[in-house]
Amino acid sequence: MKVKQDSIEIIARTVKVNPDNGLTTSQIVKNREQYGENIFEETTKETLFQKVCHHLVEVMNLILIGTAVFSFILALQTPDEGYVKSIVILSIVIINISVSIFQEGKADNALSALKKLSAPNSVVLRDGKKETIQSEELVVGDIIYLNVGDQIGADIRLIQANSLQIDESSLSGESIPIEKDPSLEFAKEMPLGDQLNMAFSGTNVLNGNGLGIVVAVGAESQMGQIASLLVCQKKDKTPLQKRIDRLAKRLAILAFLAGALIFIINTLTSSVPLVENLMTAVILGVAAVPETLPVIVTLSLIYGMENMARKQAIIRNIPAVETLGSASVIASDKTGTLTQNKMVVKRLWVLHEEVKTVDDKTNWSRADRQLVDYMALASNATAELNEEDQWVVHGDPTESAIIQLLGKLAGTKGELETKFKRVLELPFDSSRKKMTTVHQLDQGYLVLTKGAFDRLTDNLHNEAAFKQADAASIHDQFAKDALRVLALSYKVIDHLPTEGNEPELEVGQTFYGMIGIIDPPRLESARAVAEARKAGIKPIMITGDHLLTATAIAKELDIYRSGDLVMTGIELEKIIDSELEEKIDQISVYARVSPENKIRIVKAWQQKGQVVAMTGDGVNDAPSLKAADVGTAMGIAGTEVAKSASDIVLADDNFETIVKAISEGRRVYGNIKKTIYYLLSANVAEIIIMLLAAVVGWGMPLNGLQLLFINVLADGIPGFGLSREKAESGIMLEPPVGMDESLFSRGGYRRIVTAATTFTVTSLAAFYLGSFVDLGTIAPSLAVGQTMTFLVLSISSTVHIFVARSNKPLIKAGLRENTMIFWTAVFSLLLTVTVALVPGLAAVLGLVPLGLVHWTIVSGLSSYILVVVELEKYILQRMGRRFIA
Ligand code: ATP
Repeated sequence: MKVKQDSIEIIARTVKVNPDNGLTTSQIVKNREQYGENIFEETTKETLFQKVCHHLVEVMNLILIGTAVFSFILALQTPDEGYVKSIVILSIVIINISVSIFQEGKADNALSALKKLSAPNSVVLRDGKKETIQSEELVVGDIIYLNVGDQIGADIRLIQANSLQIDESSLSGESIPIEKDPSLEFAKEMPLGDQLNMAFSGTNVLNGNGLGIVVAVGAESQMGQIASLLVCQKKDKTPLQKRIDRLAKRLAILAFLAGALIFIINTLTSSVPLVENLMTAVILGVAAVPETLPVIVTLSLIYGMENMARKQAIIRNIPAVETLGSASVIASDKTGTLTQNKMVVKRLWVLHEEVKTVDDKTNWSRADRQLVDYMALASNATAELNEEDQWVVHGDPTESAIIQLLGKLAGTKGELETKFKRVLELPFDSSRKKMTTVHQLDQGYLVLTKGAFDRLTDNLHNEAAFKQADAASIHDQFAKDALRVLALSYKVIDHLPTEGNEPELEVGQTFYGMIGIIDPPRLESARAVAEARKAGIKPIMITGDHLLTATAIAKELDIYRSGDLVMTGIELEKIIDSELEEKIDQISVYARVSPENKIRIVKAWQQKGQVVAMTGDGVNDAPSLKAADVGTAMGIAGTEVAKSASDIVLADDNFETIVKAISEGRRVYGNIKKTIYYLLSANVAEIIIMLLAAVVGWGMPLNGLQLLFINVLADGIPGFGLSREKAESGIMLEPPVGMDESLFSRGGYRRIVTAATTFTVTSLAAFYLGSFVDLGTIAPSLAVGQTMTFLVLSISSTVHIFVARSNKPLIKAGLRENTMIFWTAVFSLLLTVTVALVPGLAAVLGLVPLGLVHWTIVSGLSSYILVVVELEKYILQRMGRRFIA
């Protein structure tokens, strides 16, 4: 729609909206039909055909298809060989690709559902009422409010703007905020950067506020037009996925070398046909790579994200799942995260009077009552009576406490504002930590400043009286009792300051008094702090509040322990980096910090090799959230800008949720390690079995197809179930996993060696017995030996999953907790037995019928892995160690 450059009246008429009332419900539907929905075409969504192609060109599949073609050509020349071998190889490739595409599809669906949870919101006027909706639901014609920290949801023609500054770097790359001016009108289409009467989708409000009409949504918006470029960007792999890729490559090289060696030995020593020998060597090379591993890792990460979302932690970046597992420091703010954000005024004090409590108002003076009125006048929170005659307060929780107290004293903000009309405001911001309002008097103006005690007392008119009254020690007493303190000073002026001279309003004021507000810690915070400590994670508090208030709460929660250091932002600015790094282990509370201080704290911890999870909510917190390893934004109190800079959004703003997410991150990481050990055990065993047998001149224990079957179907499929495995019980009693810690640390090698050795011994025993020992009914032969080896390795690598999944002994691990493992293992076992018993299939895989004695031996050898791993667990437990650490 080409209305952007027009005047507001023309636009409003065109899109059929009354700017004072917003769109009507029926017009919303019509405009959505006419101008489209506010969604971008997801051009990256692959079709099924593309997905199949994608998998087909993977090296392993290409080699297998090449092998199938090769055996097809051979079959053409020697018709008695048949084409079945090619068909079987292709079937295995097809099953493998289908399982992968199915699992990836599930992962994609889960991911888009999760993305919706953290989608940005917009505040609109519809049918005369203010509403918060998901930005995706915006339609052309919507009247939309813009506020500091908002991420703009569509292209907007501005109607109003108060000091509105927008960061358009996401759109234009220009990093300097643009000051908007709705009064401008252009006769012709202007370049994007000059359209100062517009605000664009995907950009961020850094300052001020405004109002506008949505003029373009979805693909029509400026962002929509470049979105197709953005969504086409390659998906980045997580660090863990990259490490696994590297591991797989190394293993492939190893397997190919082993394959080449086996080929040479067998060509020189055995009578196996050259073609068969070559095929086995090649298939060993490809099949020894656990190629289902990457898909299992993705699934584990996404399943972890779903679990975290259920626990109120919404992950915005997949790698955060694994980084969380490694978090070793949680730097949390106080208000609302560690505390309940349910603020109540408890005490007040007016200069030259006694401290009074709110619970007992009998001894209150007129000045005490006046303090509440002044505090309320200098607040932006509002209150209204709901249908049940109860006060519903809107706005900042600190100010809500004041408005509630005013209500209890039978006052209303409306009354006060009629009496003392507000004519000017210097807004609150977390760096100034104070705000000022100016009110019309019969003669002159009343200036009220409310804010942090230490920010109000710099420039007082009545400084001597203030000092004599020992205001500072009263403040400190409030703060030591964990009260959040707001002070108030005032002055009367004759004229309003001229433009640009507003800061002088805050100079030369008279101190009036202060209030102490209680914001009790959340009940669950202390528990979560204790859990974090046990898990080797250091909790620290970083707050804008006063040092004493912060320390009092930190003590209650055991974040601060005796002997710890506490530091204010100003003190922090005075020390150099090396000094900070030296002391940082002991500092548990940082108070009165600025956003810049936060970045320094994060960097200092990172310098010491720690992985930092940091919380934040304001626009200014975005840089420190980006700098932290796990930037965590508040879902309720957080701005969209903070959310979009973060890796996780806490839907409930709760500290305990971070700890729960860390525990989930550890579970995911643990399961990925279990999967790696489980799959690698069989792969490593195959390489050794083939090599050893070749070296001692026994011939080939397994042919290419058998190897392929074992890797893709016998252990590849049950491996998927490990992504669903529950957390080990002591998961939060171990120290965090170092970011550079090897995937095989904490007993990983031991587990692979035990399982691979067991597989090797049992498989070679089966091969020897079948090939060389007369077991009665059927004469020993290479084919009998191979059949027994195939069955033993296939069955034992499938059943291995039942012991590899948990620290608990087999009988206690419980199958019902993870039915996916049970059913996939049953499926793999049935497949194995079927190919062995159905004559047509058996012939293709080179399997021959066995006697009862052979089957009994196969069963015994296949269950051996269960006995060995259970024994390993038992011995480790007796030694005070854990199988899975
Ligand atoms: P955090 O959420 O980081 O733990 P905080 O919410 O306590 O900290 P700020 O919002 O920066 O941090 O508040 C710091 C100080 O500013 C408070 O201790 C209080 O004295 C003062 N303050 C807070 N809100 C207001 C307000 N609405 N008006 C005036 N002063 C305020």
